[in-house]
Amino acid sequence: MEDSERKARGLCLLSGGLDSQLAVCLLRQQGIEVDAVVFKSPFFKIDSARRAAKDLNIKLHVVDFTADILALVNDPPHGFGGNLNPCIDCHALMIKRAGEIMTEMDFDFIATGEVLNQRPMSQRKQALGIVERCSEYEGRLLRPLSALHLEPTIPEKEGLIERERLLKLNGRNRKPQLELAREFSLVNYPSPGGGCLLTESGFCRRLADLKQHEGLMCERLAWLLIYGRHLRLPGGAKCIVGRNSRDNASLKKARHSEDIMLHTVNVPGPTVLMPLGGCEADVATAASICAAYGDHDGRSEVVVRIYEADCSRELTAAITDRDAFASYLV
Ligand code: SF4
Repeated sequence: MEDSERKARGLCLLSGGLDSQLAVCLLRQQGIEVDAVVFKSPFFKIDSARRAAKDLNIKLHVVDFTADILALVNDPPHGFGGNLNPCIDCHALMIKRAGEIMTEMDFDFIATGEVLNQRPMSQRKQALGIVERCSEYEGRLLRPLSALHLEPTIPEKEGLIERERLLKLNGRNRKPQLELAREFSLVNYPSPGGGCLLTESGFCRRLADLKQHEGLMCERLAWLLIYGRHLRLPGGAKCIVGRNSRDNASLKKARHSEDIMLHTVNVPGPTVLMPLGGCEADVATAASICAAYGDHDGRSEVVVRIYEADCSRELTAAITDRDAFASYLV
């Protein structure tokens, strides 16, 4: 096949939001073959991307980004946004990882659904330029929704993409996107969100506590941040209390042999996990917490089973008011 007849191939970052879906539709409209990529970590969910990929009938590449984002939270070259969100470096590294797939799988370019000036900091022209340079794929990153405000990319110059069919969106007004959604019959998209869990102060308190005590080298401990109530006990151990059956099941499943797990014996109660264990005083405190959060129904004490390595034992814990543990909550 002559090179001029070759169909261009693009790899589009798909969050599942409207803008990334529109980027896919715009590219396909001009006959470009498009795959999607999404990044998985404890801090961003991928359900919307999966749903959108199904609706768009597009192949979705899921990349585990946990080690990458933990390294950036530990030491972000361009610093943090309002919380522990290293947005510029995070975005640049996502583009870099997408670029690696592009090279390996013979795509011509990477695309995103970014709109110039839609977000006050991370989507200003200067920030878009920094992300592109840091990604190491300069000239291969296309932003179809705002392309006409930006320099032509290599595939545009090579004639693989018709630049005149790309858009010139700018700013926070969502009306043009909503009109395009109707045009492309897109109905399934979440309302625009503020960012991932790294932008939420409550979640960042837990993350900062993990960074300070256990560090951010262990991916499993980072994944545990998304379940339950987190407490830091006086002896230094971490204690996670399941809030519902989903948390309880996830904590049970996540338990490793070096962890201690606790559960009430004679009444319904939460699963409590002490990742990496703890001293005897902290185990006794965790048993009291487990009893306090259990359905003790007016009893004065509750038996708690403690699972350590491959054995278990029982402790009787007096019922204490939950408020007594409030200062341990992180
Ligand atoms: S909001 Fe979260 S996922 Fe998005 S760029 Fe910032 S750190 Fe990365």
